Amino acid sequence: MIRNVWDKKLFRQISYFLLIAAAIMLLWLLGQKIFSFENLLEAYELKTYDLRVGMATKSRNHNPDVVILAIDDASLEILEDELGRWPWPRDVYVDAIDYLERDGADSIAFDLMFVGQQKGFQDRDLKLAETIGKYDNVYVSMNFDYREDKKNAPDVPDKLSVSLENRSRDIDFSYFSYTYCRLILDEIMEATDKIGFINFRRDPIDKIARKSPTFFEYRGNYYPYLALKLASDYIERHENVDTNKYVITGDNRLLIGNRSLQLDNSGSITINWYGPHYTYEYIPFWKVYKSVLEEGYLKDKIVFIGATAVSLYDIKSTPVSSVYPGVEVQATVFNNILDNRSVKRVSGLTDIIIALVLSFFVAIVIIKIHEPLISSLVSIFILLSYIFLASAILDYYLVWVGIVIQSVFIVLTFAVMFIIKYVLKAKDFEYTYRLATTDGLTELYNHRYFQEKLKENIIIADKNNSCFSIVLIDIDFFKKFNDTYGHQAGDEVLRQVGQVLKRSVKNRDVVARYGGEEMVIILAEADTESAVKIAGRICKTIATKDFNLAEGLVVNVTISLGVGAYPVHGKTSTELIEFADKGLYRAKKNGRNQVGAMEDRVDSSS
Ligand code: GH3
Ligand code: MG
Ligand code: MG
Repeated sequence: MIRNVWDKKLFRQISYFLLIAAAIMLLWLLGQKIFSFENLLEAYELKTYDLRVGMATKSRNHNPDVVILAIDDASLEILEDELGRWPWPRDVYVDAIDYLERDGADSIAFDLMFVGQQKGFQDRDLKLAETIGKYDNVYVSMNFDYREDKKNAPDVPDKLSVSLENRSRDIDFSYFSYTYCRLILDEIMEATDKIGFINFRRDPIDKIARKSPTFFEYRGNYYPYLALKLASDYIERHENVDTNKYVITGDNRLLIGNRSLQLDNSGSITINWYGPHYTYEYIPFWKVYKSVLEEGYLKDKIVFIGATAVSLYDIKSTPVSSVYPGVEVQATVFNNILDNRSVKRVSGLTDIIIALVLSFFVAIVIIKIHEPLISSLVSIFILLSYIFLASAILDYYLVWVGIVIQSVFIVLTFAVMFIIKYVLKAKDFEYTYRLATTDGLTELYNHRYFQEKLKENIIIADKNNSCFSIVLIDIDFFKKFNDTYGHQAGDEVLRQVGQVLKRSVKNRDVVARYGGEEMVIILAEADTESAVKIAGRICKTIATKDFNLAEGLVVNVTISLGVGAYPVHGKTSTELIEFADKGLYRAKKNGRNQVGAMEDRVDSSS
């Protein structure tokens, strides 16, 4: 009875866990088939990174001198009467540059590309080029492209390339293998070498911008990212350091002045965002055009000029915002370089090692703590603490350790350890249970188990209004047998008799060692007649069997049997055993090797 209840509960738990394990396996296989599972984990890692970055940026400040001169919707609308529709005539920028210079701006960077001539207005293009060339603090943009037509791909003027010493074995700029350059106006390229490239980098997995390029390799030369060029010139001017030559160290760090920025294998900086967006001071372009700003308002400012108007859609998805203006990306990268804040992501191997260590702890917790609720809570605590710690490390040390692969490892370890623990427990229980219910010598059930089963059978018979019988068995002249052949031989005979008994009855019948050389059988649902028949058959089987003992010794033994049927021969287990014992006694008295006669009926009513 106890065993059944235990078995059911155990069975339920084990099948539950196996089901989960099977489901995980199935999902995994399915996942691998449809999309690479690693990419899925990476996508989640990126998402959690974005969340962590988003939470951390609130407390972070950028350089207050960085402002954005925004060609916004309001400016397009307000200036439409005077300037017409976008694109504006280029003398607008001439005026803007002159204005900003007069007002004392530190530097001016156009996140706009002056590509192609505006027909019939060549004089304006010339004027713009002349104005840009006149000042040494005006920066303009250009970009690279992928095009099939490699033959007609233009050369980029040599003066725009930079000297870069790459001592890193990991960094390979061919990540951006551009085949084409979209040149800007010749006049501008002739007038200035303050040209940076503004190719934008999205994560291939989810198209979100988390990184910024540093240099682009094109036809064997290196060209700088706009924000990088501006930042290194800024550092050179303000800190009196020479940044003519760039060095990337063996451990993947780009040195600019006293800054040391961590690069990834493609030579990109993982951007450290200020956010969510519009964190900088945005000055609408029309205010400069109409000169409504206070005089000196832009003194010492680093002015990024770019389009933020919805219709000009220069909007990027970033970890901190899905509507991040492109020009603000430049401003943020510029700030990152100045603040020497770049995020270092640990290697995949480091992430896996951390995951393994955490899994180990969880495994120990589950093995050591026996209360499932507590071990679950402790495991959850480990998981949450790790996530918290990883977020803090990212925020304070700018080191990006993963949390997704670690979480997956923790959860899987938890599940697997639970399953293993229950399987072991089940095995352990089976063993103890066997030990407690079987007889060591004969491997039959023991006396205690027989008594338990007997009572159980009585309950079942009462409930179903059915019957069952017991057969008591005693080996004849066994004392003499022992004296003749020794106890070892006696033990062997006992064992073999036990096996014969087991084989002579059905599986559901219980064969037990009653004590000494006495054994007992519970014959389920057998009435007196069939019990006597079975007992007779067993008696004959034993009597005719040759018992092969050690050293070629062959012996024969006989048994005497007594039968009792429930409920006719006894209403309780004691009465029933007593009745069968009397039968056994009669069998002995009658000359042994037989089933005791059934004449002596117990009648409870008399
Ligand atoms: P009877 O035909 O009247 O049953 O004669 P018997 O000699 O079998 O008499 P009894 O039942 O009194 O003797 C039981 C003997 O069985 C005593 C003991 O030597 C032997 N015996 C009991 N348990 C074991 C055992 O585990 N191993 C061995 N080898 N002998 C046992
Ligand atoms: Mg005996
Ligand atoms: Mg005996």
